[in-house]
Amino acid sequence: MTKLKSRFFTHDAVNEPYWWEDAKPTATLEADLPSHSEVVIVGGGFTGLNAALTLARAGRQVTVLDAEAPGWGASSRNGGMLGPGWATFDTAMAYGPDKARAIVTESFQALQHVKDVVDQERIDCDLAVVGYFRGAVTPRAYDAMGAQLERIRKVMPCDAYLVPYAEQHGEIGTDFYHGGLAIPGYAGLHPARYVAGLAHAVKRAGVNIVAGVRVTALERQAAGFRVSDGKRQIGAKQVLLATNGYTGPLYPFLQRRIIPIRSAIIATEPLPSAVMSRLMPKRRMLAGSQRVVTYFRPSPDGTRILFGGRVLKVTGEDVVETNAAHLRKQMLQVFPELADAGISHYWHGQTGFTFDKLPHLGQHEGVYYACGYNGTGIARASWFGHKIAQRMLGIEDEPSAYEDLPFRSRHLYYGKPWFLPLVVLYYEMRDRWDQR
Ligand SMILES: Cc1cc2nc3c(=O)[nH]c(=O)nc-3n(C[C@H](O)[C@H](O)[C@H](O)COP(=O)(O)OP(=O)(O)OC[C@H]3O[C@@H](n4cnc5c(N)ncnc54)[C@H](O)[C@@H]3O)c2cc1C
Repeated sequence: MTKLKSRFFTHDAVNEPYWWEDAKPTATLEADLPSHSEVVIVGGGFTGLNAALTLARAGRQVTVLDAEAPGWGASSRNGGMLGPGWATFDTAMAYGPDKARAIVTESFQALQHVKDVVDQERIDCDLAVVGYFRGAVTPRAYDAMGAQLERIRKVMPCDAYLVPYAEQHGEIGTDFYHGGLAIPGYAGLHPARYVAGLAHAVKRAGVNIVAGVRVTALERQAAGFRVSDGKRQIGAKQVLLATNGYTGPLYPFLQRRIIPIRSAIIATEPLPSAVMSRLMPKRRMLAGSQRVVTYFRPSPDGTRILFGGRVLKVTGEDVVETNAAHLRKQMLQVFPELADAGISHYWHGQTGFTFDKLPHLGQHEGVYYACGYNGTGIARASWFGHKIAQRMLGIEDEPSAYEDLPFRSRHLYYGKPWFLPLVVLYYEMRDRWDQR
């Protein structure tokens, strides 16, 4: 944890997730690496832990390995915003209306799955259905939202609705947007407490979680696999890779299909309650319609604003200052009255994108995987973990709508997204052109 110095940081600002103040992922669940386990799961985030829970409840002996600590990846760093997948509708329509309907319907199951797990395992993570508002940055973006609703309603019922500019202040205290789209079923939660609660539930179910094991080799053997970190090894009948945006060279098949993209968030210092009520009157989860996405929300206790988006820099000494300044600038476009509010936290994490913008789960040469949530993974990773576990158990009640989708890479892509700066620049230029 490093103290931060720019003039807009509070004197005690840190580059660590705000969420970690309550629930910092730790290696306290560390155990010894057994020589064998029926199932080995690599990666202890939402995907790996949900899979472990389903497998352990069905009686499988499971070991979860994480290079750092359970929840250390995106699962304890995200915005904590989860809802139905209306945004995926257009992408899914590439496979026809039936597939689009099935995929959006499954997103409701995914959301319900999180609610059920939180309920059954009594995880205290501030889960609350507060709804969502996506502001249109131009009148044309507002019209596009209406057109998308029409396309959806031709295929399936949809309870999302447009909020015109005149009524916008009921959703968000800004004139920056030109109206927007509201989605009632959206929820917010405290992600680090959710993933910490999952880790405890998984432990209670008898799973061995071993932290600090960075798996570097996966070898096929007659009776399964041998998984090793170079020093220690463990044999397994089945292996699940649940490493998503942190997937490295361990398994080239996945590395060639997952595009790691960094996303970052800043948190303000506590703000007066009158300001919070004016800026976020319904305590909704919020976002802007730019191609280069911005997302924001109140902290679960309603005292701070957390504002997230893309990073400008990924390396260099001034990464934190540059990215935080960029996010703050975007936040001030929406809420100019926060110009004097100090920034108390900055952090970032890795998301896993895919070339077709859809998540994938399946099996390749005997190795199971679930990944590629394209920045929207709280519900989907949790659900995919559960679904891939069912498949590993051979008890899948209903195959996921995603299972038969082709999972493709592209020529000249080997895991380093060299094209990303160009793509982001292009999208940013289009955003700026739209808003000129
Ligand atoms: C800043 C940010 C904001 C986000 N906001 C939202 C949001 O508001 N709503 C939403 O739905 N989604 C959001 N997401 C996306 C969401 O957090 C992810 O999709 C989700 O957490 C993925 O979970 P996972 O378990 O698949 O991966 P992760 O949680 O990333 O876990 C992967 C784990 O694998 C481990 N690992 C990697 N390689 C190895 C190895 N070789 N050996 C052992 N362990 C290994 C890592 O240590 C890590 O703990 C956000 C993501 C980020 C980064």
